[in-house]
Amino acid sequence: MLMTGAQYIESLRKLNTRVYMFGEKIENWVDHPMIRPSINCLAVTYDLAHDPQYADLMTAKSNLTGEIINRFGHLHQSADDLRKKVKMQRLCGQKTASCFQRCVGMDAFNAVFSTTFETDKKYGSEYHKNFTEFLKMVQEEDIVVDGAMTDPKGDRGVGPSDQKDADLFVHIVEQREDGIVVRGAKCHQTGSINSHWHLIMPTQAMRPEDKDYAVSFACPSDAEGVYMVYGRQSCDTRKMEENADVDLGNKMFGGQEALVVFDDVFIPNEYVFLNGETEFAGMLVERFAGYHRQSYGGCKVGVGDVIIGAAALAADYNGANKASHIKDKLIEMTHLNETLYCCGIACSAEGYPTEAGNYQIDLLLANVCKQNVTRFPYEIVRLAEDIAGGLMVTMPSEKDFKSETVVGRNGETIGDICNKYFAASPVCTTEDRMRILRFLENICLGSSAVGYRTESMHGAGSPQAQRIMISRQGNINAKKELAKAIAGIK
Ligand code: SF4
Ligand code: FE
Repeated sequence: MLMTGAQYIESLRKLNTRVYMFGEKIENWVDHPMIRPSINCLAVTYDLAHDPQYADLMTAKSNLTGEIINRFGHLHQSADDLRKKVKMQRLCGQKTASCFQRCVGMDAFNAVFSTTFETDKKYGSEYHKNFTEFLKMVQEEDIVVDGAMTDPKGDRGVGPSDQKDADLFVHIVEQREDGIVVRGAKCHQTGSINSHWHLIMPTQAMRPEDKDYAVSFACPSDAEGVYMVYGRQSCDTRKMEENADVDLGNKMFGGQEALVVFDDVFIPNEYVFLNGETEFAGMLVERFAGYHRQSYGGCKVGVGDVIIGAAALAADYNGANKASHIKDKLIEMTHLNETLYCCGIACSAEGYPTEAGNYQIDLLLANVCKQNVTRFPYEIVRLAEDIAGGLMVTMPSEKDFKSETVVGRNGETIGDICNKYFAASPVCTTEDRMRILRFLENICLGSSAVGYRTESMHGAGSPQAQRIMISRQGNINAKKELAKAIAGIK
C-alpha cells in the first residue's frame, strides 16, 4: 500500500515517540511549528509517488513481494535502479529545497541486506532472513525508517571499548535467550523523530575487543527506553513567530536532526542483524556510507537547482539580470551543480551486484562525489550571496513591511516607507523581492543551511572520511605501473 503524505502525517500521531526540545517534553510534536516543516518534507516523498508523471522514479517493483512500492523502500536491482534513485533524490530536492530525510533508511536497507547475506554465509546466522522479513513489512506498510549510524564517539583518540564512558558508542549490555538489550545513543540523526522505525548500524570498523559494539538492529521509534532530543537550527525560533511567512524563506519545508537515546532497549532476536561479528561492521559502514555519498549527488543537486533559480530571480528583481558578470555567475553555479550530478550518475552507472543480489555503487566514484559536495555547495552559496546583495541579511522584518504605524511627514506608515525604499525593478512587487532574498538567506545561513551547507560538509561522513576511501580505492601502485611501462622503466 502506497501511503499519501496526509496518511503518513496521520500515522505519526499514533506513535508514542518521546521528543524533547528546549528542556521539555513536546507532546504534540507533529504540529510543532519548528518540527512540522521536516514532516511536510517527508510527506512530499509520499505524495510524489502518487503522481503518474513521476511513477518511474518514485516507485519500483519489489524483488521481495512483486508489489509496486515507494522507491525509498527498494533494494536496487540494477545500475538503472541506482541511477533512478539519484534522479528521484534530485526531484525531491527540487520540490522541497531541503533534506527530505528518507534516504538514510533506503541506504541502510541496501547496506544491511548485502552485509547480512555475507555474515550468514560465514557464520550460519539468520540475520539475512530476519532483515528480509523486516524489510517486507517496511515495504508493505510504506513506513519511514531512520538509518542510524553516527555514535557520539567521545574521545576520538581511543576506540569504543576504551572510552571512559562505555555508552559513547551503542553497545549490547545483555544477551538474552530471546534477544539483546542495547544502550547508547546516535547523534545528529536526520529524520529520526518523524520515522516509524529505526535501523541501527555500527559507526565504524570494529576490533575483536569491540564485540559488544558490533551491533545492528531495528526498533520502533516509540519502543520502551527510546527518547530523542531535538537539535535546534540557526534562526529556528523565527518559525515560532505569530503568522510567520516571508521571514522564514522556506515556510513549508525543512530538515531535522536529533539525538536518539537507547536507554536499555530490548530488541527481540528477529530484529537483530549483527551481534558481535566484528569483522562485518566495517563492511556495513563502508557500504552504507558509499550509498549515502552517492545520494548527495542527487539531493544536493536538486536543492542547488532551486538556489540557482532563486539567484536568477534575485538578479531579475534587482534589475541586474543583464549584467554579464551575473550571467557568468549563474553559469558557474550551474557548472558546479551539474558536476555533482555527474558524479552521482557515474557511481550509479558503474554499479555492480553484491553476493546478495542487490546493486552496490562504485565506491571510488561515490566518494569523489561526496568530496565534491563538501566544497561546491559552499561556492554555489557564495555566488548566490554575491548575486543577491547585502539586503538579504539587512532587510527589515515582514512586520515592518506590513506595519501601519505612521512615521512620515505626509502620514506614511513604516510599511509605506519600507516598500518605497526597498522597491527595485518594476517586474516584481517589493514583497516578491523580499521573499526571494529571505529564501536565499534561509538556505545560505538560516535553518536550511543545516541541510545545504553543514550537511554537505559532514553528512555521510566528513571530508577526511572520503579521502581515506579515495586513498584506499585510488590504486596508486597500478598507476605507477602505467607510468613505468610508458617511460620504459623495468
Ligand atoms: Fe536524503 Fe540528502 Fe537528506 Fe541524506 S542529506 S537524507 S541523501 S536528502
Ligand atoms: Fe544527510
